[in-house]
Amino acid sequence: MVDLLGMTLEEIEEFIQGLGKERYRARQLFRWIYKKGVYNFGVMTDLSKSFREELARMARIWAPVEVHRAASEDGVVKFLFRLEDGAHIESVLIRDDDRRTVCLSSQVGCPLGCRFCATGRMGFARNLAAGEIVGQLLHIRKVLWEEGEDLTNVVLMGMGEPLLNYDQVLKVVRLIRHEMGIALGARRITLSTVGIVPGIERLAGEGIPLGLAISLNAPDDAIRSELMPINCEYPLRILLRAAKDFARTCKRRITFEYVLIHGVNDRLRDARQLADLLQGIPCKVNLIPYNPIPNAPFRRPPLDRAPPLPGGPPFQPLHRHPEGQPRTGYPSCLRPAPDINRVPKKYLSELGL
Ligand code: SF4
Repeated sequence: MVDLLGMTLEEIEEFIQGLGKERYRARQLFRWIYKKGVYNFGVMTDLSKSFREELARMARIWAPVEVHRAASEDGVVKFLFRLEDGAHIESVLIRDDDRRTVCLSSQVGCPLGCRFCATGRMGFARNLAAGEIVGQLLHIRKVLWEEGEDLTNVVLMGMGEPLLNYDQVLKVVRLIRHEMGIALGARRITLSTVGIVPGIERLAGEGIPLGLAISLNAPDDAIRSELMPINCEYPLRILLRAAKDFARTCKRRITFEYVLIHGVNDRLRDARQLADLLQGIPCKVNLIPYNPIPNAPFRRPPLDRAPPLPGGPPFQPLHRHPEGQPRTGYPSCLRPAPDINRVPKKYLSELGL
């Protein structure tokens, strides 16, 4: 049985030609799957009945199954999916003004073990196949369609490290961009990484102007290595050089994600060091107050006092939501938090934002 979900147009063409059918049949099938989100061969009415029956014998379109959905007041909806082998992954829909963003997982678990992250503690099970990744997107797009809305943006920022599943993730990026299918431009797609430098370099070489978000979380190697073991392999100097090269090659500003952890990386000296560190890199910094997880030695900064991180370059284009509230659903390190981060306006006004 051939799995069609996750196949590129070229792969579907090859399959169709193997059945002795005309090449244009592949384009019809591709449109049904990715443009219309239809998985049932029986309703693909522009295909002959005998061909549909043949497809049903030879192939299938299998997607992750939604087993749970949790919506929060601020328009964030979390979806729990079950995969065919019984593993579970999570995806998130974020409604933000007129943007409808899906956040996709790329692995079951994660091998990188960031100390502040619940997924890191789960360990690593396996990479997701392209069909399992794009299947999350198609499911959530259908949910939006049922509510009269449509998908506008995609972030690869859910469970796992996308650059450790490079080939499948790139395949998904190509599927998302394909004009006969989902048809979202590269500028509407953001890939988030902890800083797998060879992956960033390879991605820059693809010449796709994707958004790149880097989970930074520290102003120096000592703090970062303590929080994120991957920093021992790719320390800040080479990570930031790769980030700068990516920004230049792809003509995209880098987003640095910075989870604020009380007493660890949120002090005035950290802010000054971070400002120096990011000089010369076209970037914005997304500050995210830490959402504690059980049995972790970290705390969220008190939100009733101004945090010491300053405004001004390179924080000038600091990302925040219009209400001044970071949202749940972005980095997987926030995933298990039972509550929604609420940052008082004072927090941001004292930053000069
Ligand atoms: S923060 Fe990201 S890279 Fe680090 S352990 Fe969690 S999922 Fe993996």
